[in-house]
Amino acid sequence: MNEKLLKDVVVPGEVIGVIEEFLAGEGTYVDGDKIRSLRIGRAILDVDERKVYVKPMIREELIPGRGDVVIGDVHSLKKDVALVLIRKMENKGVIFNVPFHGILHVSQVSNRFTESILSAVRVMDIIRARIINNKPPFQLSIKEKDLGVLLAFCPQCHNAMVIKDRKLYCPACKIREERKISTKYSVNFKL
Ligand SMILES: [Zn+2]
Repeated sequence: MNEKLLKDVVVPGEVIGVIEEFLAGEGTYVDGDKIRSLRIGRAILDVDERKVYVKPMIREELIPGRGDVVIGDVHSLKKDVALVLIRKMENKGVIFNVPFHGILHVSQVSNRFTESILSAVRVMDIIRARIINNKPPFQLSIKEKDLGVLLAFCPQCHNAMVIKDRKLYCPACKIREERKISTKYSVNFKL
């Protein structure tokens, strides 16, 4: 489901949309031409159905699960896996004070065969990934085009690397590095 967070916290009676624009979903009611919240929660838009609904605020909401898009940094590499510290759940706008652990296996890098996890990510890289299971430790995938490395740093001078000829490049050190680069890669990315 393609969801968009409209507002982090809404209170009962608060206007979250108009009926010309959206359908009124769970946790909402229609008042004239306005859609209002029935409860305290998060106002979310189901983009595909153009339907707004309000998810009640419960703690489980804040725990990542299958399908969530997360941002984290690569903590360590071991044989065929990268251990990722998940710092943010992008699709729900949640930042974790204590990061969750995520595991990226080499088989989840691409639909094509990837020989080594080292050609996809390196320690310190910031990555955007999708969670593919429901319980910690979370299994991650970066197969989609906009998933993968969002920002990487030069192994020598530690400056942000730029994209050049579909690889990462440090203009200062003239170093090239291979990664599974996200289409959202940006030298200005901030976690
Ligand atoms: Zn450099």
